Amino acid sequence: MKKKIPELIPIRRIHNYVYCPRLMYFQFVENIFVYDSNVVAGEMTHKRVDKPTVTFFSEEIENNSLEKIRSLALESADIGICGVIDLLERNPNDGSWTIYDYKHGSPAKDIHGNDCAKEADIIQIKMYVLLARHHQYNISAAKIYYAETKTSVTVTLGNNENDLLKIISDVKNAASGELPDPLENDNRCLFCSMNSVCLPEESLYWKKQKKITYPISRPPLAENVSGEVLIIHEPQAWISKKGDMIVISVNGNNVSKHPIHLLKSIFIYGAAQLSTQALCCCLTENIQVIFFTPAGKFIGKLDTLSISGLDSRHGQYKIAESESHSVKIAIPMIRAKISNQRVLLQRNCCPKNNDALNLMRGLRKMTTDAQTREELQGIEGKAAAIYFENFSLMLRNDDFAKRFTGRNRRPPLDPVNAMLSLGYSVLSSEIAGICSAVGLDAACGLLHAPRFGRAALALDIMEEFRPLIVDSVVISVINRNAVDLDDFIFLSQGCSLKKSAHHAFWSTYARRMSEELIHPTFGYRMSYRRLIEIQIRQLWRIFRGDCTEYFPIVTR
Ligand code: SF4
Repeated sequence: MKKKIPELIPIRRIHNYVYCPRLMYFQFVENIFVYDSNVVAGEMTHKRVDKPTVTFFSEEIENNSLEKIRSLALESADIGICGVIDLLERNPNDGSWTIYDYKHGSPAKDIHGNDCAKEADIIQIKMYVLLARHHQYNISAAKIYYAETKTSVTVTLGNNENDLLKIISDVKNAASGELPDPLENDNRCLFCSMNSVCLPEESLYWKKQKKITYPISRPPLAENVSGEVLIIHEPQAWISKKGDMIVISVNGNNVSKHPIHLLKSIFIYGAAQLSTQALCCCLTENIQVIFFTPAGKFIGKLDTLSISGLDSRHGQYKIAESESHSVKIAIPMIRAKISNQRVLLQRNCCPKNNDALNLMRGLRKMTTDAQTREELQGIEGKAAAIYFENFSLMLRNDDFAKRFTGRNRRPPLDPVNAMLSLGYSVLSSEIAGICSAVGLDAACGLLHAPRFGRAALALDIMEEFRPLIVDSVVISVINRNAVDLDDFIFLSQGCSLKKSAHHAFWSTYARRMSEELIHPTFGYRMSYRRLIEIQIRQLWRIFRGDCTEYFPIVTR
């Protein structure tokens, strides 16, 4: 899709482009920012100089009476750039100015071992000089201050206006085109804040469909690696914001405090209250807030306007309109689901060459020939029927096993079904939240038909994870005797969990989602939550047309 880019390119984005065009694209076009420790440290460095001494139309500038100007915002429609100069200092001898740019890191070294400025930093400060000169500032020198080593490096200013204009034009062209390919086996990726979203090596694998021949040098960390999920069951709970904390209180007493930067999601069951300040904070900090009924039925989630992902959503809608294309992407998901269900049966109850396993193997093979959604769903349904016929064999508590006679829902009729329904509802909501955060439309599915209030894409993505996460959690809760029948409510309209069963389910679910496993393809450790995010980022690339085949997660 042809994009219209802003008329003025921020000079910081030019810095990104010189470092890596793909980084510029993520930040400038897709509006994706990752706050890792380097970015935060960089912002702290700038905070110290980001106190504007004057505004653009200041009288003091007009009167020429200032010795220093901090955070001077300038723009030029003629050159097509804008930026904020950290510091301008007047030379008392001739009245000319020295421009300073502050960097949190350290300088590079030249071949003699002397400090020198990095390439992207040099271009950035030269752009500031160009912009300042355009506004009639007599700039005689430019220096970059590196906070980590507390050293200043002087940048030689030559007559390079044409080179700089060419770079500006290159940035505009790159920004209006497609997402550039990642760098290959390049050290810059090691220091790049966008690594966890860009997934350079993984993207190359998905695109070229060939094994990476070198080790992934730094497994990308999740955007919010230590992100906590806060689960609120208490109907009297009041969720508020105090300073940098989300505070939970019940009947006026504070019961817990959670640093905002560590929170990833808040799940609210029932009638807990959320203050407007906490609500706005969740929206600005991208903390998902998901609402459920007390019994665990998904009601909805707090969401902002998607700020990025136009190309991926556009591609998603186009693919969803084509049944053959959608089925091609959904086949590996269903194959993986059947494989993972088989593995669960094999591990927990069925010996090799068991009839059920053989039948499921046959059905898994048949998925490859499916041409329509209906055919694929038919195969998936048959495999699920065999799987759930044998599900109770995996339970080591007869009270639960005897009551489970197959999958039922709306309402679930026994404790196992009640926990499975709760788990699928929660997992699909989490996945829907990640889809929106990544820039996809969770409501537009490939296999599951779109329907009012249904996160159809999340249901597609969840297929391969159902046995790995929810089914495993339910089996574990029962087999560890973390619940008994007294922890459930049996009514004519179905079965639901009491508070004690919720507690047992949630602690096991939370443990499972943070449990680490080795990625079957990339070979590094990650949590299940991060694994799901990586799969969604893979789909994001397919929808954009960056790669064609979907690689699911299959356990052995
Ligand atoms: S991780 Fe590497 S390829 Fe990706 S944006 Fe950063 S520098 Fe570029």
